[in-house]
Amino acid sequence: MENGWGRRTAAVQAGTMRSGWGETAEAIFLTQGFVYASAAEAEARFAADDPEGFIYARYGNPTVAMFEDRIAALEGAEAGFATASGMAAVTAALMCDLRQGDRVVASRALFGSCLWVLTELLPRFGVQTVLVDGTDLDAWKAALEGGARAVFLETVSNPMLEVIDLAAVARLAHGAGARVIVDNVFATPVFQRALDLGADVVVYSATKHIDGQGRCLGGVVLGARDFVKGPLQGFLKHTGAAMSPFNAWVLLKGLETLDLRVRAQAATAAEIAAALRGHPGLARLIWPGAPDHPQARIVAEQTTGAGTILTLDLRGGKPAAFGFLDALRIVRISNNLGDAKSLATHPATTTHQRIGAAARVHLGIGDGVVRLSVGLEDAADLIADIGRALDSAASP
Ligand SMILES: *Cc1c(COP(=O)(O)O)cnc(C)c1O
Repeated sequence: MENGWGRRTAAVQAGTMRSGWGETAEAIFLTQGFVYASAAEAEARFAADDPEGFIYARYGNPTVAMFEDRIAALEGAEAGFATASGMAAVTAALMCDLRQGDRVVASRALFGSCLWVLTELLPRFGVQTVLVDGTDLDAWKAALEGGARAVFLETVSNPMLEVIDLAAVARLAHGAGARVIVDNVFATPVFQRALDLGADVVVYSATKHIDGQGRCLGGVVLGARDFVKGPLQGFLKHTGAAMSPFNAWVLLKGLETLDLRVRAQAATAAEIAAALRGHPGLARLIWPGAPDHPQARIVAEQTTGAGTILTLDLRGGKPAAFGFLDALRIVRISNNLGDAKSLATHPATTTHQRIGAAARVHLGIGDGVVRLSVGLEDAADLIADIGRALDSAASP
């Protein structure tokens, strides 16, 4: 990390490029293009693989570069490329280096759009995707026996909060010659160091905790310089899912408070988990920090915090879940997560509606499942709101 800085220092200071005015906060360079002092300078910049200056905002922009450099420092990555959304980051990380005949092995428990890219889009171009139960190392081993170009996984997973043994899967994947791409959104950069655990590439939807205040979309792909400045940059420069400089500025400011927000949200999530445990309206409460989490040992070894999301499985199925959601007053119904405002989602009818009933059964997403993204409100107010809504759902 820059000058041996700690991560909180990096989150506030890394990547800053001040203009001649010496501004304190980062400037928003709301420009699509750049001018050159001479024709020869333009020629030289176009000839360079990694030019000093900027050429066109689809390739790079000073405010976007500050965001890329700051999150790369925070993540411990050599380089990063920012994108218009998290899905642009996922799609680019996969497609930039895949071609007809390649195989991808992925965990089944994925964000719905990631699943669509892997199982609908890639096969159109002759790329085969094999899905496995991410928590079953034997399944990874069997699937990787046929070789693979890439492995894709999400840990912690959405919405059932499964935790995959990343170091073990990375070892198996590397043995098969695959690049390991990890969607680290739920775990956050604060709690899980995916690159240290063996991932080659980390992707984020910056829309979630990195903004964390419901304002803009964004994404980023992080990894080794030869990957980011090679196939990834080539793909993104020419396909055009560039991040807006304004969004990069919002997300730079988000990075400055990311650590504080995520830790506070996770502490409140722990309080809520403790308060709701044993509630008669709940068949199950899933939180990676709970001692009864199925992968509690991996959570303890692989992460430094259990995250900001809780998943509740209500007795009484969809009527109970809808009754609960409609009775909430502070927590709002929304499909987003990682926000300062607490948000609740019914995955079976929203984010995971279109994967179909059979796939939901496979993933354990029952009709009583509600995903709760814990925000920055007072824990006591959230516990009272959730408790009251659970009581009213249990006895409508
Ligand atoms: C939201 C999300 C994405 C997609 O990000 P967008 O910014 O909405 O495009 C990908 N993966 C996970 C785990 C997410 O939560």
